[in-house]
Amino acid sequence: MRVLAPLTRLSRFHITKCSQRRTLLTLAIETSCDDTSVAILEKHNDNSATLHFHSKVTSDNRLYGGVHPLVALESHQKNIAGLVKVALQSLPIDEREQGKTLVGNNGRVEGRKRPDFITVTRGPGMLSSLYTGITTAKGLAVAWEIPLLGVNHMQAHALTPRLVSALESARDDSTITKPDPEFPFLSLLVSGGHTMLVHSRSLCDHKILANTLDMAVGDVIDKCARDILPTSELEAASDVMYGRVLETFAFPDSEPDYNYSPPSSFIAPVRALQDKYDWFITPSFQNPGPGGYAAYADTFIYSSIGSSVKRIMNQRPEMEVAERRALARTAMQAAFEHLASRILLALNRSDMKSINTLVVSGGVASNQFLKAVLRSNLDAKGYSHIRMVFPPPKFCTDNAAMIAWTGIEMFEAGWRTGLEALAFRKWSIDPESKEGGILGVDGWFNVNDPEADSSHEL
Ligand code: AMP
Ligand code: ZN
Repeated sequence: MRVLAPLTRLSRFHITKCSQRRTLLTLAIETSCDDTSVAILEKHNDNSATLHFHSKVTSDNRLYGGVHPLVALESHQKNIAGLVKVALQSLPIDEREQGKTLVGNNGRVEGRKRPDFITVTRGPGMLSSLYTGITTAKGLAVAWEIPLLGVNHMQAHALTPRLVSALESARDDSTITKPDPEFPFLSLLVSGGHTMLVHSRSLCDHKILANTLDMAVGDVIDKCARDILPTSELEAASDVMYGRVLETFAFPDSEPDYNYSPPSSFIAPVRALQDKYDWFITPSFQNPGPGGYAAYADTFIYSSIGSSVKRIMNQRPEMEVAERRALARTAMQAAFEHLASRILLALNRSDMKSINTLVVSGGVASNQFLKAVLRSNLDAKGYSHIRMVFPPPKFCTDNAAMIAWTGIEMFEAGWRTGLEALAFRKWSIDPESKEGGILGVDGWFNVNDPEADSSHEL
């Protein structure tokens, strides 16, 4: 059912006022998977930004060895209200506009600015998890009489480096005028649920060049970790981000010497350094058939790496720690070289000549060995000029700061979300996908469009 809220005088005032404002302030909520995260972000007129608040609670799924939807849901329900309550104390002080001052709440947030709008993750993700955030966001938007922005989680991962550049520029006191990187750029989105190589051409135009056919790279690394890690290491893990534990296990030194050389072929078996052990990891396209592996430039396949590790560990359950470390490193190497192979094929395309930046985002992007493997392979194939941008780990894993930034970019482009908006389990960022990409779904309206149906607005 559509909520028919007439465009009130207050909201017209608010929209006009916002377009003249010197800053934009949003409170953002992310609950697409197992992290409940809230952020308050302010963008200044020089394109720098200040993160006034950023916090998250991750549900404890260790009993299940992976994310269980009900455990995640309960954790969101338990934590979201409390996180928002704490966040309100960090809203910036409003020195100028008494009319926008929050009232009530025992006076604790009095004198602080009201956000200009609420941003929330609308998809893709687990529906039950998403709805906790969406319902909370709608409630805040209605109570404060401010617009709602329901944004795409994968778009947010792709835009994260632009958030980071804005935050850095506020800290450096520099005078940047544009978020960095500018479009177009290549985005490699690598997380527990996604493996995508994307040509990011503009704010809402992200063409997917390669996608996974079976499982996400984060998922296969987590599976390898469960097979390779000694029981004591698995039991000591503080959460189910086993990929992070596997990296520390494989490279225990704080500044490891990776001693890595790019392979001459991406279809040869991947062996331990110096061929020290008799096992090997089967690469993703060992027998690609006619056309070679280039015929599958749009495809990532990860199950063969997981199966290789399982087979090896089943044959050698008593494997010594040193050999487990070598296997952990080799499995990651195979997974990351598969990513490199698709990036190189993409860069070889004639429509990629203007690309000079590769953004790597999502939880797996916090892996330092991934950085070394990609850099070495790019350099070896004549792409030393491609700059690689990895956001800091706290912005690589799921977080509300990237959602807030995406909300701000979408808000500036005039986009708003109607209060009737539903969550999406699947929501491709590719305009040519069946959903029509970021703007292809219902619920959007644009305040710059004179034809727009304003009945959704507050
Ligand atoms: P996300 O889905 O973006 O929250 O990312 C979570 C995924 O990233 C999980 O599969 C983690 O195991 C993986 N991950 C996080 N840190 C690392 C790391 N340092 N190395 C490899 N994978 C990681
Ligand atoms: Zn994510």
